[in-house]
Formats: sequence, structure tokens, C-alpha cells
Amino acid sequence: MFFGQHRIEIKTPEQVRSMRAAGLVVGRTLARVRDAVRPGVTTAQLDALAEASIRDEGCVPSFLGYGEPPFPASICASVNDEVVHGIPGGRVLTEGDVISIDCGAIAFDDAGQGWHGDAATTVAVGPVRDDVAELMRVTEEALWRGLAAARSGGRVGDISHAVASYVHGEGAYGIVDGYTGHGIGTAMHMEPDVPNEGRPGRGPRLREGIALAVEPMITLGDPATDVAADAWTVVTSDGGWAAHYEHTFALTERGVWVLTAEDGGRARLEQLGAAYGGD
Ligand code: MG
Ligand code: MG
Repeated sequence: MFFGQHRIEIKTPEQVRSMRAAGLVVGRTLARVRDAVRPGVTTAQLDALAEASIRDEGCVPSFLGYGEPPFPASICASVNDEVVHGIPGGRVLTEGDVISIDCGAIAFDDAGQGWHGDAATTVAVGPVRDDVAELMRVTEEALWRGLAAARSGGRVGDISHAVASYVHGEGAYGIVDGYTGHGIGTAMHMEPDVPNEGRPGRGPRLREGIALAVEPMITLGDPATDVAADAWTVVTSDGGWAAHYEHTFALTERGVWVLTAEDGGRARLEQLGAAYGGD
């Protein structure tokens, strides 16, 4: 069912449970990849691990073959000044690097309909510079502030404002422009866009059954980016390092259910005073 002028896909509670199945596979896969990050590993090795994890759980990688030119891997692996959409390959991680790993999976319901989950995390390769560790903390906390700002009857701009106001309050960080979170469900990228900056009370209305991916992309320097010659990898124009965290959530009758977090987001949402919407 679609709702409103923005053609937002509204899920039934049963469909949200199908999305939870996809989300859990994404969350567990990211945990496995995180555990495998260490100096000497290649991003292609992390991709192989992720694809096996997704397929072993009976799901299909969302990213493989996506877009034009078709994305050639099951994760995006973006290192240091790479923001998002990095293509896994022979690059060897070294101590002090940070790697942002983005992962999507499709779970199929009894009718054969596919449901998507999408999440990302940034991982330190051994000890990293203090400013990089702080960038990671700020970006992850901004994600949770955004998730905690979602409620039925609110607006997408409430999420955007919560992300940006937290980031700006923590220092002179760049909020990457031109890339946003998004609606998600029967496809990975759906209406509406979920910008990382915006005004509270503005934008499409939030209601029970909506599912969105929130994904702040934050830089240590200027937020301007370029796309590399491989047509996918987004890099900062000034070479500053970046972090990227993402979760998929649904609004249920009880509140926010973070479908790609193993605990459904319960712990962080309750810390922030938000209603937890999971089972
Ligand atoms: Mg993603
Ligand atoms: Mg996404």
C-alpha cells in the first residue's frame, strides 16, 4: 500500500516482520565483517565473508549487480577519505585506517516477495588518531539521535534536524551533501529521501508502517565530494577522512524498531528517551 503525495510504501505488521528478517541478517553480517577487520586483510576478503554470511542465511545481497555500471560486490568498503560506495578489491588494510562497510540483504516472504535491509558501520583498523575516533563517535551518535527523533505524526525533517543539530553541536564537521537516507521495503531505495540536514516539522509525514534508512555521512573537513574514476567510489574533495553509519528502522504502533540492530535498537533508544517499537 502506498500513501500520500510522496508515494511512500506503508508496510503491514507482517511485512515489517519480513523486513526484520532481512535486517537481522544484515546486522549479523556486519558483526562478522567487523570481527574480521584487522591489518593485512583485503577489502575483497571482507566482501567474500559478507556474501557467504548473507547467502548462508538464505538471503540475497542487495548490492551485487545494483545500478549502472552494476556494482560488483556485496558490500561497499570505503577506506579513510572514501565516504561511501567503495568497491572491494585488493587494497590491504593497515593499522590506523578506518573502513566504512555498507551492507544490504533481501529476505523473501512466503509469497516470494523480497524485503530489504540496509545498514552501515565504520570500523577502526587497530588504534586510530583521536580525531578520527571522535568522528566515528559523533557520526554513530548522530545516527541514533536521528532514529530517536522518529515518531508517528512527525515529519522526516525531525530526523534530519536531529542528525544535523547533534553533529554541528560537536564541532566543525562536514555533513556530506547530495547523499541521503531513504525509504526502503520492497526495494532498497524508495521514497522519501531522508536528508542529514533539515528543518523540524517539515517534509513527508511519518506514520505507522513506514520504513526508512537513516545514514549520516560525516567528514573531518569540508563536506564536498567527488566520484572516483571507477564511477562508484565517493571521496572527499579535500582528502579529509569520513565516517558512515546506517540503520533501517520501521515505525510500529509502539514506536521505533531498528530492524538492522540485533537488539532492535532497544538499549540506545531507551537511553535517548525514545519509544522502542519492537516485539
Ligand atoms: Mg547502506
Ligand atoms: Mg542506504
